[in-house]
Amino acid sequence: MSASELSQLEFDQQHLWHPYTNVAKPGPTFVVKEGEGVHITLGDGSRLIDAMSSWWCMMHGHRNPAITQAIHDQLDRLPHVMFGGLTHDPAIDLGRKLLDITPNSLTRIFYCDSGSVSVEVAMKMAVQYQHACGFAGRSQFATVRSGYHGDTWKAMSVCDPDTGMHHLFQGALSVQHFVPRPPIRMGEDWVEDPAQNGIGALRALLEANAEQIAGFILEPVVQGTGGMYFYHPEYLNQARCLCDDLGILLIFDEIATGFGRTGEMFATDFCTVEPDIICLGKGLTGGHISFACTMTNDRVALGVGGGNPGIFMHGPTYMANPLACAAAKASLDLLTAQDWRGTVAGLAEQMQAELAPARDLANVRDVRVLGGIGVIEMQHRVSADEAHARAHEMGVFLRPFGHNIYCMPPFITTPDQLSEITAGMLRLAREL
Ligand SMILES: *Cc1c(COP(=O)(O)O)cnc(C)c1O
Repeated sequence: MSASELSQLEFDQQHLWHPYTNVAKPGPTFVVKEGEGVHITLGDGSRLIDAMSSWWCMMHGHRNPAITQAIHDQLDRLPHVMFGGLTHDPAIDLGRKLLDITPNSLTRIFYCDSGSVSVEVAMKMAVQYQHACGFAGRSQFATVRSGYHGDTWKAMSVCDPDTGMHHLFQGALSVQHFVPRPPIRMGEDWVEDPAQNGIGALRALLEANAEQIAGFILEPVVQGTGGMYFYHPEYLNQARCLCDDLGILLIFDEIATGFGRTGEMFATDFCTVEPDIICLGKGLTGGHISFACTMTNDRVALGVGGGNPGIFMHGPTYMANPLACAAAKASLDLLTAQDWRGTVAGLAEQMQAELAPARDLANVRDVRVLGGIGVIEMQHRVSADEAHARAHEMGVFLRPFGHNIYCMPPFITTPDQLSEITAGMLRLAREL
């Protein structure tokens, strides 16, 4: 059959690659025709609640009128212009907004296209900063296990070695330094003993390799893709002190945690310290268009600028794309104009109550909630493909990974809709 005779879905299965899939064995895939609010409408007319916020970014729901209007308006004026030697209001207005809501010390903004690229940019900044300070040997990174930072090379090198399949890419990946993930969980009492709270291992690693390490990068408080694991923010406060003592930059990857998802505006806000560099993405445009940024403090930015060559060696073609900037500004305006803290606390409270029965199931290892993130951790790995069909019957789109059946509902999810999501999760936990 020629490609033109294939149905839409057949064409998709024979020619389009999907995330983390085997082209020889593509799993069940739904054709989506339309999105509105919490719903996506499929080709057969059925509607599903997008309990994933489309990989954690669609926090105001699909096709939010304020965001689509901002994109339309910008489209009619200036869809794109290069950022070399030129600037524009959307980039400046978004910058003002970001400075308003992010940790105070972060004053310099680098706009880029996706989360992975923002991690690349952060790591390049750290290396260039160290170089400018006279430490050309500091080009490696330390991180914690079970992390996830994206799929490009340098980002992948600091992802968990097992789930990131480092053995497969051996020789092609930069060697980095790993410590166990922070052992004390969010909500547990902090333990001062460095042998138990993870700081001892971190200190040993950083001290032994300080002359090679440019930065310590990790996801603050919530490890997302690496296991939906929530850990104690005191780990980050103490890591800050260690980094300061050793001249190592502290980099927080807030791509998943930013913009209210954890119950704070940023996971950094659970800490008493601030990072040197922060990566933002995912929810930045409310899920309407790909965008990300890397922010840093004056010390790092001016440090890079004072070195040789002084220029920062990065500049994507679509840097500060005006459509993306306008979408992000509209999304952040929406967020800060509402009682987002109350909204997220409401989601958390309801998920706590409605997911609790899963604790009694034999196959369930743990149930946990933080802000707008609800997780049922199973004893065994769960098949996303099997979950698909069952969740579809329940009118919910859920895509578990690893051991975790989880949701990150849009902030506009009503209590009734959230009950449908949690019912779907409980059913998956019982049946899979
Ligand atoms: C999703 C994610 C990334 C990668 O972002 P992309 O936009 O997919 O490149 C990096 N870090 C964290 C913590 C993420 O959750």
